[in-house]
Order: sequence, then C-alpha cells, then structure tokens
Amino acid sequence: MKCVVCRGRAVARLPAKNAAFCRDHFLAHVERTVSETIRRRRMIGKGERVLVAVSGGKDSLSLADLLVRFGHDVRLLHLHLGIGGPGGYADLSRGFVERFAEARGLPCRIVAFEEAEGWGIDEVVRRKAGRAPCSACGRMKRYWMNRAALEEGARVVATGHNLDDEAATLLGNVLRWDVESLGRQGPLLPETEGFARRVKPLCLLTEKEVALYAILRGIAYVRDECPHAAGARSLFLKEILNRLEERSPGTKSAFYQEFLRRAAPRFSTEADRPDLRPCDRCGAMTTSVICAACRLRDRMATR
Ligand code: SF4
Ligand code: ZN
Ligand code: ZN
Repeated sequence: MKCVVCRGRAVARLPAKNAAFCRDHFLAHVERTVSETIRRRRMIGKGERVLVAVSGGKDSLSLADLLVRFGHDVRLLHLHLGIGGPGGYADLSRGFVERFAEARGLPCRIVAFEEAEGWGIDEVVRRKAGRAPCSACGRMKRYWMNRAALEEGARVVATGHNLDDEAATLLGNVLRWDVESLGRQGPLLPETEGFARRVKPLCLLTEKEVALYAILRGIAYVRDECPHAAGARSLFLKEILNRLEERSPGTKSAFYQEFLRRAAPRFSTEADRPDLRPCDRCGAMTTSVICAACRLRDRMATR
C-alpha cells in the first residue's frame, strides 16, 4: 500500500476517500481538513480566544493540539463529571488532561461537579434524579461550558465531535424526525445573547482518522469508556453506520455532508430562535422560567 502523494509506505488507508497516506501526508490531510472546515464555516475569527472542552479522550485532545498548531489562542476546560469513584473514569480522564496541558503549557480550567454542584453524575444516577445519565450529564456539560466561556472571555467553545458522532446523532434525529434538533444540528451554532458560539472542527474526520492522528502525534489519551456509555443508543447507531460503511465506503460522510449541503437549510427555519430569558435561579439564558441545569439541581436537592 503506497501513499497517493509521495508513493512512500502508507500508514493509513482511507477507503471512503479512495486514498492512502504515509505518516507525513496523513498528518497534512488531517490538518488541511480541519483548517478548511474552520475557514469555510467561519468557526473561529482571527485572534479570537477559543475554549476547548477536553474530556481526556482522543478527539478533544487532538482538537486542542491542532488548534494550538494553527496558532489560535487556546484555553482548555475540563469537566470532572464525578463518574467511577476514586481512581475511576473521571479521575483517569482528568489525569490525561492535566498532563497534556502541562506538557504544552496551556491554561486549563477544571470544574469538578462534586465541588461545584455538590454531586457528580454517578450520584444523579444513584438518586434516580435524571431520566438517563447521559441526558443529565449533557445538560450540566452545556451549562458549564457556556458559563466557563463567559468567565474566560471566550466567545467560542470548540468540542471534539467527529464524523462518527455527528452521523450517529443525525441518524437518531432522522429516525424520530426530530425537526427541531435537525434544525440545530450542524458544526456551528452561532452565538446568541448569553451563549457562546459552539463549533465542531473535527466533524469531517472519522473516529479512526482522529485516533490515528492522536497516535502519530504522540498524544496520550484515556482509553477507558465512560461506564454509562455501554447502554447509550448512540453506540448502537454508530455500529449500524459502521456496517453500512463496510458495505459501501463513503456512506457515513455522504450521509452527513449531503445533509449539511442539501437538507439542513430546509430544517433551520423549524428551529426559529426561541425567546430567551434569564433563569430565575442562576441567571443563565433559557427558554423557560428555570433552566434545565437548575431543574436538575432542584431534583437533587429533594432526593
Ligand atoms: Fe456523560 Fe453519558 Fe458521555 Fe458518560 S457516556 S460522559 S454519562 S454523556
Ligand atoms: Zn506521502
Ligand atoms: Zn438556572
């Protein structure tokens, strides 16, 4: 197998793109894909500070690595979710983030839910206060990402969602014809009053491409899965897409990219900006009287 650019020994075969790359040209392919995504979609302005939400996994750490290499003003945010007890998943993840930040001299803010909220996600599950761990986790993550961005003076928050993540979310939304979510699903959510812009610069790279990038760049990342992920529907949807991809390479990328190109604009009117107002409890902008994070806080206070 030879690199399609230099005919050297290939380390990566990308059947979906009908290509193979040597180490250097694979890294160049990743950089080009991500920098073009950022430029074309106007994700990050010149000189703008970016808060990168890093979980300790391959995607978010690779994203931070890329944005630093592109010369952006990067700050890291890590949310310690309170999952897995002492030495468990959350502690392990934090260790990888801390070592990554230290090695690169990057400013890194860590918010531990157990300190900031008085409880972590395991506790939400134990007290049966949320519908599912991932929905409680998601709403607290969104709250803290946004709050940290405002506090850190960053107008943009970048997350490491890759093509597999985005295609699985899209499939889930299509299966339910959830038009509101389809209207919001894209690699860029513009900033609105009280909300930072949210961008996903890795959205056109597959999980495998990002994993290989991390390995080739020597990025150490947590390999353990969150214990709550096992039952998650998104994993099942990813499996289905991987089987389709095996049969006909390129399906995943066509599904997502053609959605963005042809279908997304038709749904965006469905997601007309809802009226936002400050939450009665915490002041965060919300569509209801009390924001989703505070509603979970209320339930945790009474259980
Ligand atoms: Fe949170 Fe669910 Fe992800 Fe675990 S799998 S980190 S609970 S969203
Ligand atoms: Zn090459
Ligand atoms: Zn609130």
